Amino acid sequence: MTMRGLSALPLDDDLLDRVMTFCPTFGTLGAMVLASKGFHRVFQTHPKSIMRAVAYNIVGPALPQALRLIRYPHPPPEDPIDMATTCPEDHEPSVMTDDEKKLLQENAEVVQKLENIYSLTTKDRTSKTSLLTSEESWRFRRASYRIMLYCKLFPGNIYSFDELEDLDDVQIAKIRRQRTAVLNEYPTDELLEIFSVVKFIGGIFVEVNGGIDSSDDLDVLLSAGPAGAVSCWEDRDASGLDEDLLNLLDGDENNNLFTGYFSLPFQNIWATRNIKPPKEDEPASKYVLDQVNGANDTCSHCATPGGLALLTQANWDRQQIFSTQLLKAKLKSNQTLTFPFAQAAGNLSDAESLGCFIAGFFAMSRRAPGFEDWEVGQSYCQPCLTKYLEEHAWIWLLEERVKTGWVPPEDCWYGYNCNTQTHKLAHAQQKNHLCVPTRGSV
Ligand SMILES: [Zn+2]
Ligand SMILES: [Zn+2]
Repeated sequence: MTMRGLSALPLDDDLLDRVMTFCPTFGTLGAMVLASKGFHRVFQTHPKSIMRAVAYNIVGPALPQALRLIRYPHPPPEDPIDMATTCPEDHEPSVMTDDEKKLLQENAEVVQKLENIYSLTTKDRTSKTSLLTSEESWRFRRASYRIMLYCKLFPGNIYSFDELEDLDDVQIAKIRRQRTAVLNEYPTDELLEIFSVVKFIGGIFVEVNGGIDSSDDLDVLLSAGPAGAVSCWEDRDASGLDEDLLNLLDGDENNNLFTGYFSLPFQNIWATRNIKPPKEDEPASKYVLDQVNGANDTCSHCATPGGLALLTQANWDRQQIFSTQLLKAKLKSNQTLTFPFAQAAGNLSDAESLGCFIAGFFAMSRRAPGFEDWEVGQSYCQPCLTKYLEEHAWIWLLEERVKTGWVPPEDCWYGYNCNTQTHKLAHAQQKNHLCVPTRGSV
């Protein structure tokens, strides 16, 4: 039935009101209100409750935290207590401006992506989409929005290098009091949720950078918040972050504004509340998740325990890859192959292309001996998956080249083990080395 047809029916106002509250986005609501006089009339009667309902459909039960994030005034008040109590989390229906609707939607997308990553790395490694229960999701999102607000109040790029140098101890102490006051507004159980989500976000920065040199650098990166973490995860590095923030990494050692960005306020609050601090080595699932799936799983090949760190189709892109290093034996030093291999592999710098590349190794018609029963749905430890990729990279390259019309020359007797291919270009060009050796190495 068309919208116009629906509005022509003698539906009572309560029903029209109810229909509008089911809109999944503000765009759908807007179209409905424009398309029918009946909807328009009812919307004008109850704009606050209908908008609130649609906002809830977008954000979920963390809506009060999401609204505070977008409505917090700029610049913020300077007094720590004022800063902590301004624009409290709003549980009442209210009219939303177009800018607010847009920001709400954008932030909801960031938090949804972050939850998907959290679920994949902390809850269940087999699904790219969040498998958190509604209760777990609520805790996670509530904490995420509060972290976003914190990072908005204390951004990493607010001061230039020169301004940072000019900050004296009194000013830094004041900012630290502000940070403590802002977090101190939350009850302890919800503060522990924030602690866990901060730990998870820190873990993203560590993983995509292949480690972090210092806790100060990690503190700077944490100020990029959930949006920064999502961008780093998708890009598999930190280069997409704000340039001013990146400049702070390995920066002036005298600048300690970011030292203990989250950890110092937490320490202050645990001490003031006389609470035993959470342990640093506690998993990021604690305080948010009721259950973790597959925590005791082992590698399908070698039975090494791996839990959530095991690699499977949904999380292959967590594997760090330098493509030409995957070429077997002496092939990685054959210049006539390394370039075509890198070209065929393409740009593996982001998570999506990396996942597709590894998927291709499981879709090959030919398998190396001993790997015939490996399947995409199984989970492997990092060394085993690396071994699988190494044993198949040369076969994959051979298939890819043949697909594009390449006719291999005669096989070299020594195949991928041939030493001559590494230093005699003519030999490397005249013989095919993408083959199993039939004689001992030279
Ligand atoms: Zn293994
Ligand atoms: Zn050879």
